[in-house]
Amino acid sequence: MSEMNAATLPIVTLFDTMTGKKQELQTMEPGRCGIYCCGPTVYGLSHLGNARAALVPDVMVRFLRHQGYDVKYVRNITDIDDKIIKRSGEEGIPAQEVADKYAAEYKRDMVDLNILDPDVEPRVSDHIPQIVDLVQTLLDKDLAYEVEGDVYYRVKNFKGYGKLSKRNIEEMLESAGSRIDVDERKETPLDFALWKAAKPGEPAWDSPWGQGRPGWHIECSAMSSTHLGDSFDIHGGGRDLIFPHHENEIAQSQGAHGEDSYARYWSHNGFIDFDGEKMSKSLGNFFTTREITALYDPEAVRYFLLTVHYRSGLNFEVVVKCPACEALMDKDGQESGRCPACETETPTDDLRKQVRFPGLEEADDRLAYIYSTLSQARRFLATAKKPGNEEPVAGAVAGMLEAFVAHMRNDFNTSGALGALSKPLGEVNALLDSGKGVSKAVRYLTIERFVSDMEEVATVLGCFGQDPDQWLANRRDGKASRLGLDIAKVKDLLVKRTTARGDKDWEAADRIRDELTKLGVGVQDGPNGSVWSFL
Ligand SMILES: [Zn+2]
Ligand SMILES: [Zn+2]
Repeated sequence: MSEMNAATLPIVTLFDTMTGKKQELQTMEPGRCGIYCCGPTVYGLSHLGNARAALVPDVMVRFLRHQGYDVKYVRNITDIDDKIIKRSGEEGIPAQEVADKYAAEYKRDMVDLNILDPDVEPRVSDHIPQIVDLVQTLLDKDLAYEVEGDVYYRVKNFKGYGKLSKRNIEEMLESAGSRIDVDERKETPLDFALWKAAKPGEPAWDSPWGQGRPGWHIECSAMSSTHLGDSFDIHGGGRDLIFPHHENEIAQSQGAHGEDSYARYWSHNGFIDFDGEKMSKSLGNFFTTREITALYDPEAVRYFLLTVHYRSGLNFEVVVKCPACEALMDKDGQESGRCPACETETPTDDLRKQVRFPGLEEADDRLAYIYSTLSQARRFLATAKKPGNEEPVAGAVAGMLEAFVAHMRNDFNTSGALGALSKPLGEVNALLDSGKGVSKAVRYLTIERFVSDMEEVATVLGCFGQDPDQWLANRRDGKASRLGLDIAKVKDLLVKRTTARGDKDWEAADRIRDELTKLGVGVQDGPNGSVWSFL
């Protein structure tokens, strides 16, 4: 909605790392917002930290669009990197193939988590000319120097180095100078590589300094300029990128384009910690997105990540159970692989498969509650009669969307925004149970408003947007296969029971119900037949 003028735009605040304060978002052009985020280095499967770093801007972009902003979102792919070259050696395939392969895997994880594609997804290998130009500009401005085909940034010539990470350049130089691994060819230890001379067997491109490849930091300066201009609105990334990566991006871009250029706001998300100290080292301290979505519905993972404000650290509670007796294994047990309760030995690799995340189980239950509310609400609206008169919507549902939006406008507070749904959910469930105390019209209109406002919420959060009945059926079937329940048998019993009921053979119907109960299955009889669920 670029025709919107500044006066009509809603006020959205966001925390800016540079000023250390929450700021009102004032974009360069009213109604438009350019966002750049550092994307993945594609040398392996994404882990949950990568997923969070992609989810945070995804929700930001979705919400700004909901608020009427015309957003251009750029997230790069780092396809030239030491780790990719190393993996290329390990897998025996060219570096570019490694990058293509893991970029495709990354994309699959993002789709699973309902993270929308960025508008532009530039790759470093497609931006070598822009990178070479930028390095040349820095050389011309005396902000860089060449040594034997390598080009380094000359940090001491950039006033303001350290301003994002709040570090003092003198102190950094002092402490860096005392380290032993100082590269003799650099003027100071803080100087970083803009261009690296080619080593035998490595991918390389032509440049005025000979064959070589770009250093890591220069790519983001070059690609953001190419796709968003020398100045743009928001730069995002994980907190671990503040220093040195983002500090170096600032030095490069402002060094080349002036002090007033580059990002107006810096947004950083917190880390994910897998139960920190409580988990043994041998089980690893991170999990791939794929390992987790194999165990839990990706939407539950997404929901779980949204329950915590993006700037906060997120602690993942981790539980490891003995595969033989299901007793919890403490850190010593995990390390030795020997169950303290039944003394069964389990190899570490197998133990890792026993890891469970109680937070995700809770998130999954919560999602099921929300989807079943939506399912019942839709069924109610399909069968009840729509009132002819307009009546005010009752209770908390009336203010739900407004409260939700207010939390989101306050530094994208998804945690508060999800909280704003709780009371309306409870009230709608009460209304679905009985229409006591309200008129038929109010009951209908309140449930109707809830359903339509939740559709809007779903576009912002990327949760609750699936067909509720489909989602619930998938969840039930997933659980059945995890528990080894024979669904064909359950369905067969249901058919037999329906036939028995049709024949008014109540004794047989009851017997079949008992049989289902033994399988852990309950039956609800409705106008459209019988539906089963776990007891
Ligand atoms: Zn970057
Ligand atoms: Zn055991």
